[in-house]
Amino acid sequence: MASLRQKALEALTERKPVKVEFPSNKVSDYFGDNCYNDKAMRGTLSPTVYKKVSQAIKTGSKINEETAEAVAQGLISWATAKGVTHFTHWFQPLTGATAEKHDSFFDALSGIEKFKGSLLVQQEPDASSFPNGGIRSTFEARGYTGWDPSSPIFIVGTTLCIPTIFVSYTGETLDYKGALLKAVEAVDKATVDVCQYFDENVNSISVSLGCEQEYFAIDQDFYHARPDLVMSGRTLFGAAPARGQQLDDHYFGSIQPRILEFMKEFEIEALKLGIPVTTRHNEVAPGQFEVAPLFEEVNVASDHNLQMMDIIERVGAKHNLKILFHEKPFAGLNGSGKHNNWSLITNTGRNLLDPKLGNQKDALYFLTFFVNTLRAVAENGDLLRASIASAGNDHRLGANEAPPAIVSCFIGSQLTELLNELENTGDLKIESVADEFMKLGIDKIPNLTLDTTDRNRTSPFAFTGNKFEYRAVGSGANCGSPMMTLNLIVAEQLKQFKAEVDGLISGGTAKESAILSVLKRYVSESKKVCFEGDGYSDEWVVEAEKRGLSNVKDTPRALDFFVTDKAKKLFADHGVFNERELEARHEVWLENYSMKIGIEAGMIADLALNQILPAVFKYQGGLVQEAKGLKELGIDNSAVVSTIEEIAALAATVKTQVTALVAEKARIDNEIESSREAAIALCDDVKGKYFDVIREAVDSLELIVDDAVWPLPKYREMLFIR
Ligand code: ADP
Ligand code: MG
Repeated sequence: MASLRQKALEALTERKPVKVEFPSNKVSDYFGDNCYNDKAMRGTLSPTVYKKVSQAIKTGSKINEETAEAVAQGLISWATAKGVTHFTHWFQPLTGATAEKHDSFFDALSGIEKFKGSLLVQQEPDASSFPNGGIRSTFEARGYTGWDPSSPIFIVGTTLCIPTIFVSYTGETLDYKGALLKAVEAVDKATVDVCQYFDENVNSISVSLGCEQEYFAIDQDFYHARPDLVMSGRTLFGAAPARGQQLDDHYFGSIQPRILEFMKEFEIEALKLGIPVTTRHNEVAPGQFEVAPLFEEVNVASDHNLQMMDIIERVGAKHNLKILFHEKPFAGLNGSGKHNNWSLITNTGRNLLDPKLGNQKDALYFLTFFVNTLRAVAENGDLLRASIASAGNDHRLGANEAPPAIVSCFIGSQLTELLNELENTGDLKIESVADEFMKLGIDKIPNLTLDTTDRNRTSPFAFTGNKFEYRAVGSGANCGSPMMTLNLIVAEQLKQFKAEVDGLISGGTAKESAILSVLKRYVSESKKVCFEGDGYSDEWVVEAEKRGLSNVKDTPRALDFFVTDKAKKLFADHGVFNERELEARHEVWLENYSMKIGIEAGMIADLALNQILPAVFKYQGGLVQEAKGLKELGIDNSAVVSTIEEIAALAATVKTQVTALVAEKARIDNEIESSREAAIALCDDVKGKYFDVIREAVDSLELIVDDAVWPLPKYREMLFIR
């Protein structure tokens, strides 16, 4: 019987691009067709109801029962006209995926399609299976989903998806979205307060997020022939191909026709949902790609990112592709990230992180938000680190092709000079701040030029012209976690800043001088996180330690940052999480981690014992016959004998190490109660001690054993054959 690997290789020779036609030459003809956007609302709601809803979207005001009822009726008419039969509350539990429970519009009693305002606003999914870190005891396993009107309702297939938050019966936040919304509220308030120094017309802000999403695509038959990919999302074995990414010829190379058709189709689907996709390109590693929609309001952008991941996966299947969102599906190749581009934009349309300067006041306005962001990272960078911790991302952070686990900021030489000047010139006049900018001509250089001339890809948190780019976020992550954290720490920072400046002003200092003097001190205090050099270098690790920056490389320990007294106070002060919620979340994340490592350990044992060793022994048996035959004939059999010996030694390593791994895993499962201790033990004593040793032996076997009998698709096959 041919192995799945052989079948996959055969199937591949028949693969052709699946041609995709654009619905129209103009994107505007179908953009947003599958989402209940402004246009759809205008078309289906009375002017009064429309006004109330758009007000609620803009200001976060409550929608009353009567309005919800009217929206429900507008929605069902819009949706059924598009062939929609079911609806679901779409939410983001802490599992990392999104969840849905579909209900039919069809009302059996009346025999017609029906929808109610109460169903739009609130649902009670059977939530006992979602992680909650012990907040809901099983006898009271109730959780509620509540409509988030600020994120457009959308259609997937024949289902209407209503974005919702997910809370427990007693009101605790159990999801990513709810937490993000609370942090956004906090940063909105803190930012508006500080903006008053510069512009009284600012009364609200929008946090912007643009995510660049990286992923790998492989033929789906290879995927199904790799149980490790299926179960854990990454290859647990696999020798490096002769041609890796050394040539970097994949990057910005032309996109293969099969992939191009797939990209075309998912872009069409995304555009129909109102997701503004623009850029597409190959990434550094073979088989790796990226898509980057235009930035949007953070809550919408985060929802759109999740929707897009879902679309990419579904459309991939139509093109016989399996999309891998894991941070490190292939050892030795670049991992995948999700760069979170972030800035703050006022209701008056000003990007607070855009240094394009008109006058001196503008220079100070920009510097205020720029320097405060740096100080937020200097003060609470550890929380940022914790917010992106996951089993998958551990393979990226600190590995030498991804930003390190040390959170530092790259700001470019121009801004570094300016901050130095601000720090050193005791009585820096505002004029000179502006002059400095004029001299640099930042106002004349378009952002793109600033971007490309002043870039440092090794920085985890980089200023890129008019926004900060948090690059250490993992490709599989929900943006909600890092964005909740970043907005929260900036909110806290701005609150402190305001208090300090107000203090000086009430003591008689002029406003501009007060601002400058606080900023000047912040620059000194933030310098430790500013780093312009190669973030991947060993020197930086040493230097960072000297500066007192933490470098926590594994998830279980990084998560500790979330439950320090300082963190608890911070989350509580801004109404994001109370202590119970924070502890619960910590617990869930630890459990997620342990579950992932546990699955990987199980898969390693399973594959090694049930697939790798049997294939190896079969091949070895043939060699033994071969050696005997040669000997009988009096022919030199030393090459065969030494191969047998090599195989025997490697196989013995695999066998003994797997046995030890299984025993250690069982010990941890049986003996360790605390989730933190268990996660650390799995990290250090299972993953740390055995994963690499076993892998090394298996990968060496792969290079010795006859290609024809090797059971698992090889890297070169998965990555290069199209
Ligand atoms: P690169 O690969 O060079 O980092 P891309 O063009 O692929 O850049 O992605 C940049 C992302 O940053 C896009 O999603 C873009 O919309 C987003 N972006 C641009 N300006 C802002 C801003 N002010 N706030 C947030 N995101 C922004
Ligand atoms: Mg980027």
